[in-house]
Amino acid sequence: MAPAAQGGADGAAAELLLQGQRVSYTLRRATRRSIGLTIRHGQLEVAVPRWVSRAQAEDAVRSKAAWVLRKLAQSQVQLHQQQAAQQAFADGMQLPYLGGLLQLQCQPEPGVARGAARLEPAVADGVARLWLNFEPGTPAPELGEAAARWLQQQARQLFAQRLAHHAPAMGVQPRSLSLSAARTRWGSASADGRIRLNWRLVHAPLALIDYVVVHELAHLHEMNHSPRFWAVVAARLPDYQALRQQLRQFQAPVLQGA
Ligand SMILES: [Zn+2]
Repeated sequence: MAPAAQGGADGAAAELLLQGQRVSYTLRRATRRSIGLTIRHGQLEVAVPRWVSRAQAEDAVRSKAAWVLRKLAQSQVQLHQQQAAQQAFADGMQLPYLGGLLQLQCQPEPGVARGAARLEPAVADGVARLWLNFEPGTPAPELGEAAARWLQQQARQLFAQRLAHHAPAMGVQPRSLSLSAARTRWGSASADGRIRLNWRLVHAPLALIDYVVVHELAHLHEMNHSPRFWAVVAARLPDYQALRQQLRQFQAPVLQGA
């Protein structure tokens, strides 16, 4: 028995140690034949037949430790993203930004336009700050509009720069760049060379932005997802498969007031 295993009434949260990590779980007895493990809202639920003891239930969890820990981590990331997605812009909040964190800070500065933004790059704590010329505590939508406008400007500059960086090496020349705000689409390309990129990609690490940029530029060679298309992507980004996978898991915050 693991020394950290604790008892507890059925249905109440109890804890056990899995590979050195404290994991809380709830035990539920039901009319069933086998032990079932479910991860829901970042929590482990163990459903057991009525004749199974708590110790036997915990042994079953331990025998699936790697799976449980992996699923818990995924579920907690998802939960965190869902919570972030429901937030409104607020003074002091932190947003994912180019793989790091950006904290919004209201600070009035005389003689500067209301809502003007100034970036202070990250120092020791790894958090960059966006100083916005508002009174402290200014709420959305005013704060949100200013912050979103700044993020969109950064997106446009950065995307233009990444397109200019990758296009010549790929032998293509995009005709125009526009920003989109689609919920489910990161980019698109048209046969006549127009590229659209989702401005919310500024919340992603640069490697993922580069993947989307290279993906859309590759469409200027191949307007499909054929093996020939993927060969064009791979020639520029040999590790594109890992990036594509990461992009699938990435969720940009959708903040109210943007
Ligand atoms: Zn595509």
